[in-house]
Amino acid sequence: MSRVYNFSAGPSMLPESVLKKAAAEMLDYEGSGQSVMEMSHRSKVYDAIIKGAESLLREVMEIPNNYKVLFLQGGASSQFAMVPMNLMTKSGKADYVLSGQFSTKAYKEGCLFGDCKAVASSKEDNFSHIPALDKSQFRPDADYFHICLNNTIYGTAWKELPETGSVPLVADISSCILSRPIDVSKFGVLYAGAQKNVAPAGLTIVIVREDLLGEPLKGTPTMFNYKVMAENESMYNTPPCYSIYMCKLVLEWIKNEVGGLKNMEERNIKKAQVLYDYLDSSKLFQACAEKDSRSIMNVTFITGNADLDAKFVKESTAAGFVNLKGHRSVGGMRASIYNAMPTEGVEKLVAFMKEFEKNNG
Ligand SMILES: *Cc1c(COP(=O)(O)O)cnc(C)c1O
Repeated sequence: MSRVYNFSAGPSMLPESVLKKAAAEMLDYEGSGQSVMEMSHRSKVYDAIIKGAESLLREVMEIPNNYKVLFLQGGASSQFAMVPMNLMTKSGKADYVLSGQFSTKAYKEGCLFGDCKAVASSKEDNFSHIPALDKSQFRPDADYFHICLNNTIYGTAWKELPETGSVPLVADISSCILSRPIDVSKFGVLYAGAQKNVAPAGLTIVIVREDLLGEPLKGTPTMFNYKVMAENESMYNTPPCYSIYMCKLVLEWIKNEVGGLKNMEERNIKKAQVLYDYLDSSKLFQACAEKDSRSIMNVTFITGNADLDAKFVKESTAAGFVNLKGHRSVGGMRASIYNAMPTEGVEKLVAFMKEFEKNNG
């Protein structure tokens, strides 16, 4: 068996020890005589899995007691609609910062439900940085203020949160959840598709402050109603059972093998630094994101020559570094180096890039 270094933006690498544990338990989960894939979600044995996943998430992320954790489906993209459906219920207004493609999609979706305002955007600079904010643009009566904390496609991340006063801050954390500690109490809602840093695709995690659980907009489907999902402990219907189980294994890995999110962050910063340091010293490659906005999860870079970029992607793939092609909308390269990417993978990639530079510089 040989495994590649997989730099996919999502679905992406999972820790090898987690995959091994899942494989070992595949046919018979803890003496139940069943695979987790085959279990009734209402069974006692599965109940311990979903409850265990939630309590571990609460512990690892230090989620305060006045927040509900929801295990949903539909991806982060469904939250682009569920957030306005559940929160845009008072003034019918919401503010959005456009820092990339996903936040723009969220804004456009929000516009279907009410009065959404783009209070800042870095589109003119091809989203190479987090936009500067002008607080006079914020609306104090907005029902929420939406940001995307880590911009997966452009490789940028917020370093400081906007001050929104009493307006609940809502954040898409799909590509940075569990990469570092986050002060949950600063947010009204956090949401994430699990396939970047938590589990296989199929699971969407929503963390919502209890006082925001009210009557949703008229016509909201039951499946899109946070309150119904919270009251039913994510079991209104069949939850994404296997992904939740994998999420639990990943959380056990973070807690027991990594030693928590503080350690995870330290590891991720060091790992990203290896790549950024090389990019800053290279004469062939250059980083795309501006220095003060750089993500430690997604690193975007180019040579400045599209043919050479294509050659690099081809040769790196052949050498066992896969999925380095940039997003189809921006081109160039992107190395997604989520939690499960070992530092060794980044070091070997840099060694490969140095060799490529020597041959093509
Ligand atoms: C991947 C991603 C999405 C889309 O997630 P889906 O689960 O495919 O809907 C949204 N936002 C961010 C920040 C992402 O990285």
